[in-house]
Amino acid sequence: MFSKILIANRGEIALRVLRACRELGIKTVAVHSTADEDAMHVRLADEAVCIGPPAARDSYLNVAAILSAATITGAEAIHPGYGFLSENADFAETVEAHGLTFIGPTAEHIRMMGDKITAKTTMEALGVPLVPGSDGELKSLDEARTVAEQVGYPVLIKATAGGGGRGMKVARDASEIEEAWTVARTEARTVFGNDAVYLEKYLDKPRHIELQILGDNYGNVVHFGERDCSLQRRHQKLLEEAGSPAITPDQRNGIGKTVTEALSKMGYRNAGTLEFLYQDGQFCFIEMNTRLQVEHPVTEMVCDVDLVREQIRLAAGEKLGYTQSDVTFSGHAIECRINAEDPDTFAPCPGTVAVYHAPGGLGVRIDSALYTGYKVPPYYDSMIAKVIVHAPTRDQAIARMHRALDEFVVEGIKTVIPLHRRILADPEFQKGDYTIHWLEQFTARPH
Ligand code: ADP
Repeated sequence: MFSKILIANRGEIALRVLRACRELGIKTVAVHSTADEDAMHVRLADEAVCIGPPAARDSYLNVAAILSAATITGAEAIHPGYGFLSENADFAETVEAHGLTFIGPTAEHIRMMGDKITAKTTMEALGVPLVPGSDGELKSLDEARTVAEQVGYPVLIKATAGGGGRGMKVARDASEIEEAWTVARTEARTVFGNDAVYLEKYLDKPRHIELQILGDNYGNVVHFGERDCSLQRRHQKLLEEAGSPAITPDQRNGIGKTVTEALSKMGYRNAGTLEFLYQDGQFCFIEMNTRLQVEHPVTEMVCDVDLVREQIRLAAGEKLGYTQSDVTFSGHAIECRINAEDPDTFAPCPGTVAVYHAPGGLGVRIDSALYTGYKVPPYYDSMIAKVIVHAPTRDQAIARMHRALDEFVVEGIKTVIPLHRRILADPEFQKGDYTIHWLEQFTARPH
């Protein structure tokens, strides 16, 4: 086991990793930008190193500074969290080349899944079902037209290097295909530096359902069930649940078996998430994330597992030590992402937190690095807290989340708490009757 880990991240996720390290008796090194000198992860870590100015490219993405910090503090491993360098295969490779352990999968697997066309062809070959679409990269507009006719409009043209909901264009009918092709390729080239695109049928009422997996270095892979992340705005998740209101235990076991067999054949290590669109009883793979996800706590609550502890153990070369039949599911969990944003316009709202009071009580978990007097910097992601509840049933979890959000006091900045309250009170949400398009329509309704 490691004796010291450097956490190459900030905010709530840096704290999340730090907590797992503490419980394992591992010393922690925080890295931070000059804007984060007073951040909670810096205060709580055993050591802290300033790695640059506020802009992420000069600090949290500054590979040389992060590796120097690891070397001078004698850290043996680096946990990347999510975002920043977590899915950067070159970073994982450089970390290992310096004799340190990257807490995550191999650079080869990160690279493979980072390219969505390769990810899809790899998964298809391993028996995982896909969204109908092109067989790999589209070579020409003519090919786009032909494939679109075959799968039927509407279709989506997507960048193989895309991410964060960018690099996707819908063509509703044949008259829109040329524009979608041109716009998607131009965006792919300018934003991601790679203009390769592929085509998928645009599903009209899917749910976004993803499976959490863990693998060790010896070919053992287990899954921890699904998360329903259909509540999205501009392809960004806002509220997640485990399990999905739409999935039966049999369906979970079925897709879980397909996925664990595929990843075991690949020799996949550490944590990973396979994202699917689910419609008319069919799971269609869209992409794999080779890292810990923001919404991992809902899985932790229903499976009673510490996923970060597991990541660290597995990276240190330990075996999983349990099999699929040891993974059990209990109750229902919901996570609300609290962003420092105006709840109606979604404009970011950085500033000083004048009063902070976190909710508590049975089945309530807060993952946040906020405190009274903390200044939310304008340079980074606007997510400032996650409220997670766990209860025996979905109805009780909804009531518990309502109660927790009523207790939550964050003054001085605007947050999306009022929006979450409205979602929780909505009868359609309460019935679990929603798709990936539901939240956009809901936020457009007058209230
Ligand atoms: P990113 O890496 O940018 O997040 P994804 O491929 O994961 O891109 O897709 C993000 C979101 O876009 C999905 O969660 C879903 O809401 C929507 N989406 C992606 N593919 C399709 C599709 N074929 N049909 C309908 N919606 C889609």
